[in-house]
Order: sequence, then structure tokens, then C-alpha cells
Amino acid sequence: MKFGGTSVADGERIARVAEILEKYVKEGHELVVVVSALSGMTDQLIANASEVVTCTGKPPVEPFVAAIRARHEKALRLAAPDLYDEVGKVLSARLESLENILTAINTLRELTPRSRDYIISFGERLSAPILSAALRQRGIPSVVLDGCEAGIITTPTHGDAIALPAGDTRIENRVVPLLSTTVPVIMGFMGCTEDGNVTTLGRSGSDYSGAIVGAAIHADEIWIWTDVDGVMTSDPRLIRNARVLPTVSYLEAMELSYFGAKVLHSRSIEPAMRKNIPVLVKNTFNPDHPGTRILREEHRDRRVVKAVTIIEKVALVAVTGVQMVGRPGVAKRIFSALADHGVNVMMISQGSSEANISLIIEEGHLDQAVDALTGIRKEGIVRDIVRDRNVVAIAVVGAGMAGTPGISGRIFTALGKAGVNVMMISQGSSEVNVSFVVRQQDGPKAVQILHDEFRLSEDHDE
Ligand code: ADP
Ligand code: ASP
Ligand code: MG
Repeated sequence: MKFGGTSVADGERIARVAEILEKYVKEGHELVVVVSALSGMTDQLIANASEVVTCTGKPPVEPFVAAIRARHEKALRLAAPDLYDEVGKVLSARLESLENILTAINTLRELTPRSRDYIISFGERLSAPILSAALRQRGIPSVVLDGCEAGIITTPTHGDAIALPAGDTRIENRVVPLLSTTVPVIMGFMGCTEDGNVTTLGRSGSDYSGAIVGAAIHADEIWIWTDVDGVMTSDPRLIRNARVLPTVSYLEAMELSYFGAKVLHSRSIEPAMRKNIPVLVKNTFNPDHPGTRILREEHRDRRVVKAVTIIEKVALVAVTGVQMVGRPGVAKRIFSALADHGVNVMMISQGSSEANISLIIEEGHLDQAVDALTGIRKEGIVRDIVRDRNVVAIAVVGAGMAGTPGISGRIFTALGKAGVNVMMISQGSSEVNVSFVVRQQDGPKAVQILHDEFRLSEDHDE
């Protein structure tokens, strides 16, 4: 069971999580817990580290650490009053390390990806001991493991590490023996390289940690506890009448998370799918709701379109140039240059004249992408490079779309009628999604139009 940041935002909520866990322990289940940082902590750590590294005056380290200390001690006092002294010492030691590292990066004026990962893992280093203490407060034996101790081995790609299969047996050997006597609480979001350097799994990575551990120990089920009733037909913060989906297939869940449904980290389905373990998404604040079950698709849903998602932090890059026409290997050259610069290409569209290739990339990769393409321009392959940050990508997702004619027609007719200009279209070969790009200001409207067009708020089979 993985619990997200809002589920453990303060002492009261951590106590509530312990209460939920106690219920399942009493029912006789063996549980492994994976926990996120208290909500907002990772953002604060990232912001403070960037500020401290460039700061020339007195760095804002002490007040920052003092504020974090106050928040976590308050949570501990509330969730596990009897263990306050014992666990308070653990928190103090960690806060001292954090303070030392932040001071060091200020002195060195250097923040490497490796040190940054270590710093941003502190949210989970502080939350896990509190949740574990809250369990012990209720008489449930519990131990804490960091991601590395739990056996999660990753690629050395700091900030966006991927779990290596080599870790699976290690995780199993380390975690499974604990289950007969305790409830292990594992810090989410982090792992380490073979050499023992701390890595993080990308923002929202605790979902991925939960899935990695669940798959490695051959769990019966992987439960992701969050702050909404399940996977919904769209982001409920954007679409007021979004509805909870009772079941979603692995492929649909992958597409949804990849295309912006923040409820699941985009890599969190793959480990579960590999072992065919069902993933449940449930609400910590409404635990009796059945939530969403994510499973291998056995019988095709009658509903063709299931959800509409939006990704806002993307940028469009288009390359044009007559030299591209009829010239073999141009696309290869472009994509290998982008890959060499570490650019993640999310969508591709190529005009049939071959004079234009448009790409949607993560907004944060725009500078690298332009560097890569400028290099190619020097070779005379492309003429112009156009970039545009003012765009969003939208995806319409549903496994039933494969082989159902007319879906694209409905999508683009509905948008056209509403006057939304579509800038680029791409269809994944899985046919589980149709994705396209519109101007930023048209994004929310486009999502609502499609949510209405496919009557996603209604609980019926179309
Ligand atoms: P946690 O802290 O538990 O990891 P997140 O904030 O990462 O929670 O993810 C849950 C949030 O994801 C919800 O509060 C909701 O606003 C957002 N969200 C976006 N798209 C969807 C969707 N399709 N279904 C459910 N939630 C979604
Ligand atoms: N704490 C990390 C983050 O905010 C991981 C997570 O919450 O899943 O990104
Ligand atoms: Mg999350």
C-alpha cells in the first residue's frame, strides 16, 4: 500500500493512515507500506536547494530546516505521542544531515544531479519514521527502510531513475522475511545505483516505488492510496463532473498517466503489468469507496472512450526545410540528435511532403532540443526551427478505440464546431489513444468539449 503526500500531510492524517493500515492488519493481511513526503515537502526542498546554491549572502538554511523540524515534530507528537522522544531523535539526526548538506552546497556553490537527488529524498526520509511510529503507537510492530535498504536498484539517471530488474530479488530477499513479524514502511521516491548513490524516480515517483516493491515481492495487489476516489474520466480539478472509473486496463492506465493524469506516475503500471498484479487506486479520505481496479483487459469494455487528459508542461518544436524532402535518414538524424541531448519526445507528426516534422517535448527539455536541432541545421538538413511553449497536449484514451471507426471524426468535429484550432495530431500505434495539440488558452475548453461529447460523466455504456 502506497500513501501519497496529501494522505500524510499532517499528524492527524498520518494517524488516520495508521488506522486504515491497522484494519487490514487485523483482517490478517501482510502489508508493505510505501510512503511519500508530507505534501509540499519535495517542492520546498527543490526550491531551497536552488536558492541556497546561488545565494551570496547568508543562505536561508537555518530557518528552512527549523520550519521543517517544527512541522514534522508536530506531526510526530500527534500521530505517535508515546514514541516522541525516541523517533524525535531520528528526525533530529536527519535534519542535521540535511542542514549540513545545504550548507555545503552553499559553500561549494555547486549542486550536482547526485547531491540534488540526495537532498530531495529528505521528504521521505522524514515522513517514513513518523508513519512507522504511528503504527507502533497502535501496537503494530513496524520497521523503516529507505529505498536503497529495501533493495531498489536504479539506473544512474538522477532525477528520473528507472528501476533495474536486478533489484527484484534483492527487494524480495530484504522485504519478504520482515512480513511475518512487522509492517515495513519504505520511503518512496528513491532508490540507489549499484554503487550506492541515492537516486530519485521522478516527481510523483512514490507510486512507482510502490509498484516496484509490489511486483518484486509478488504481492497479491498493489494499492495506491490518494486524495480522490480513483482514476477519473478527467482531472477533477479541471472538469467538475469527472467520474470515477470502476475498472481501467493496464494499457489505458499507462496512456492516462503518460498523458498527464497526475494520479499515477507514468512508470507505475509497467511493474504491475509485468507480473499481472492488479493495481487499486483508493481514497484515504473515503476508504469505503471501492476505488478503481487496474487490470489486464480480459473482455473489451463497451465504452469506447474512457477518459480525456491534458499535459500542460509541453512545448512544440517544428523543423522545416526543403532539404528534408525525399532524403533518407533525415528523421533518424533528428531523433538521434535529440536522444543524445536527453530530450524526451512525446509526440511526433510528419507532413506527407516531408518538408516538416513537428514534435511535442517536455517543456523542460526545450533548450536541449533547440541545441540538438541547431547542430543539424549547420549540416544543412533543416532550414528553420520553430518553437512554441504556448501549447498543451490532450489525449483521448480508451482501449475500445482500436478498431472502432469514427472516433477521430467525432473528436475533431466537436472541436471544430467549438472553434478550437488543432495544431497537431498524432495517433499512437496502440490505438488506445488519440492525442493532439492546441493553444494553451484552448486547453481546458477542449477537454470539457470532449468530456461532454463522449458523455463521460454519465454512468452508462455507450
Ligand atoms: P498523491 O499525493 O496521493 O500522490 P497526486 O496529487 O499525485 O496525489 O495525485 C492525485 C491527484 O491527481 C488528484 O487530486 C487529482 O487532482 C489529480 N488527477 C489528475 N487527473 C486525474 C484523473 N484522471 N483521475 C484522478 N485524479 C486525477
Ligand atoms: N515526494 C515526491 C514528489 O513530491 C514523490 C511522491 O510524492 O510521489 O514528487
Ligand atoms: Mg502522486
